[in-house]
Amino acid sequence: MVKIKDITNYLESIAPRSLQESYDNAGLITGNGNEEVKGILCTLDCIESIVDEAIQKKCNLIVAHHPIVFRGLKQLNGKNYVERTVIKAIKNDIAIYAIHTNLDNVMNGVNAKFASLIGLQDIKILAPKANTLLKLETFIPVEQTEEVLDAIHSAGAGNIGNYSECSFRILGTGSFKPNEDANPLVGTKNQKELVQENKVEIIFPEYAKGNVLGALNQAHPYDEVAYYLTKLENKNNQIGSGMIGTLKDALEPEAFLKYLKEKLKLDLIKFTPVQKEIKCVALCGGSGSFLLKAAIAQGADAYISADFKYHEYFDAEQKVMIADIGHYESEVATKELLDAFISEKFPNIASYLSEVDTNPVQYF
Ligand SMILES: [Zn+2]
Repeated sequence: MVKIKDITNYLESIAPRSLQESYDNAGLITGNGNEEVKGILCTLDCIESIVDEAIQKKCNLIVAHHPIVFRGLKQLNGKNYVERTVIKAIKNDIAIYAIHTNLDNVMNGVNAKFASLIGLQDIKILAPKANTLLKLETFIPVEQTEEVLDAIHSAGAGNIGNYSECSFRILGTGSFKPNEDANPLVGTKNQKELVQENKVEIIFPEYAKGNVLGALNQAHPYDEVAYYLTKLENKNNQIGSGMIGTLKDALEPEAFLKYLKEKLKLDLIKFTPVQKEIKCVALCGGSGSFLLKAAIAQGADAYISADFKYHEYFDAEQKVMIADIGHYESEVATKELLDAFISEKFPNIASYLSEVDTNPVQYF
């Protein structure tokens, strides 16, 4: 039996909830994680028409990118679409789960999908986040060093860019004296012991802390494991907002706009003109005007995002083409990404792509 929490825990192994922005409300919004999953509906937005679609498709879990509830709900009597959506979901025993800015902030999330649709190559995160890494220093008897390291690697430690199992070790002497109540692997009670140990240093993302320390304690042969944890200011190239990469071939501005329209099936693009070919492209699904400076600083010829305000277009200063393609249009493929994650891991669970166009904006 697959439970709702099996699905949400799996999705959070890809995009840990702790990576969501402070204003966000990702997670299980309605429903009970212990219920059995009968069917899943993947969508960008979760509104009333999506709950209707879930009922019709016999799904009891809606996996959405945007959380239907952002701020606190103080009353629930159906006076607006948020309350009506929540009431309808609860009445029909439908769980609503949102995976929002946590999926924006990971390497293989919203923006990787977006980048793949327009064929960007050599992609990396546009604005990597600082303060998301920890350094573990621990002391392991020489004989058991590899075994313990293998365990903490499997728990998510030691990944730097395209390299895994990264660590540093130095040989030294550990000293301890077990007391009456100790249960020492080496040495005798009440006698000082000197042991050849490796001091190992290894980094990992903060969200993996529980798993890494659990693996360390389990694999380490001592009953008391000595370690230090240090919070690092380093930027983490695997976590952050936006993405930047290059097109296979440089395109003239007009050809680039046509290319975007075709690849992303757009009716309309709002843009700021530039007098140069477009090769290096930055992007951010959703409201991304906050990354315009980063896109310019990293030499992007174009920056594709949405929700720019009038005065923000001036900030492009012809250094970069802002291509404002619309919030919905920039993120609608996220439902395909969610469906692909779920279908790959749970091939026996029915997962559907929503067929409802939830875009509140229409063009005339
Ligand atoms: Zn969005």
